[in-house]
Amino acid sequence: MRHIYFDNAASTPIWPEVLEVMCDALKRYQGNPSSIHYHGRQARADIERARKVIAHLFNVSVGEIFFTSGGTEAANLCISGAVKNLGIKHIITSPIEHPCILQAVQRQQASADVEVSYLDVDVTGRVRPDSLLDLLSDKNTLVSIMHANNEIGTVNDIPNLRSLCASDAVYFQSDTVQTVGHFPMDWTAWDIDFASASAHKFHGPKGIGFVYINQRNKIPPLILGGSQERNMRAGTENVASIVGMAKALELCHQRMDSMKDKVQRLKSYLIHKLSDNFADVRFRGDLSGPSLYTVLSVAFPSGNRSAMLVQSLDIEGISVSGGSACSSGAQKQSQVLATIAPDDPSTTIRISFNPQNTREEVDTLVEKLQLILQN
Ligand code: PLP
Repeated sequence: MRHIYFDNAASTPIWPEVLEVMCDALKRYQGNPSSIHYHGRQARADIERARKVIAHLFNVSVGEIFFTSGGTEAANLCISGAVKNLGIKHIITSPIEHPCILQAVQRQQASADVEVSYLDVDVTGRVRPDSLLDLLSDKNTLVSIMHANNEIGTVNDIPNLRSLCASDAVYFQSDTVQTVGHFPMDWTAWDIDFASASAHKFHGPKGIGFVYINQRNKIPPLILGGSQERNMRAGTENVASIVGMAKALELCHQRMDSMKDKVQRLKSYLIHKLSDNFADVRFRGDLSGPSLYTVLSVAFPSGNRSAMLVQSLDIEGISVSGGSACSSGAQKQSQVLATIAPDDPSTTIRISFNPQNTREEVDTLVEKLQLILQN
């Protein structure tokens, strides 16, 4: 059976050029990058080259980029570190953040003297700026708002939200995992404190990412045991993955316009085909405003046929996801859908694209959906 992959918001296929530099790095480096001899220095030089590439793409200093195992670790590091060292007493976040933010925030609420408030989001999943203004207090505050939502694709205007709380007592974190590699960003101009990224969301390897920590903030490490990453993240560096991640990001930025154009056209094609073929279909998120061009969230009326839609499509050779497929393949109640459409019993699936997807694949998806839902 031919398998079709439409779950690129969960993870993207690694690009061949990325694999090539990774294989080369795996073959070349015998040394530990922390060793001072020739073999160590070689590996260290490539890590630092990768850091420079990444820092340049976001207009930040090399000293503000730290490698992590991915977006989850990056988010946890910033939240726990901000509470420990920056005197945070109040965290303001949205109820539809990724669990790596929500659970890290809940832990601080349970174990530290920290109050947590949740922002209002509108029906498209966008944070309401007025609710941020309402929640700001005079306490040292961490505001954590995702750039784009991983389930429905809605993009928040982070520079504007940041500008609403530009006081010295307010630190601003943005989970940029779904947008790094897909949108240009200038974190210095945004004037934010923390941002995060994960290579497998932009055609790099899994298990590697990075965090941006504005140099005005000194926070303690999450992982102890060595002086790697300038004492911010102990453990021998994953050299090949770091090199691969920088290559993937460079390629994404070179290809960004053409990728966006191609994927956006594919997404519009699917929207039209679904609208033409399914009278009751609805789309979640914001189709006419700022949104991830890679993500389409589609709702079908509830019923026996749609109940196991992700599994039924899988049997037909098509991979999509339900709410969020980040932590497991299990179908869980989606916090995002529960927030934006609390009483809506529809079945929602997330279809997410990469530039290698084709119109023929979209045609097959629609045919299979007809087979499952209409026959
Ligand atoms: N944040 C968002 C918005 C995500 O979509 C994901 C993963 O899907 C993460 C964080 C976690 O990233 P990682 O898989 O690198 O831990």
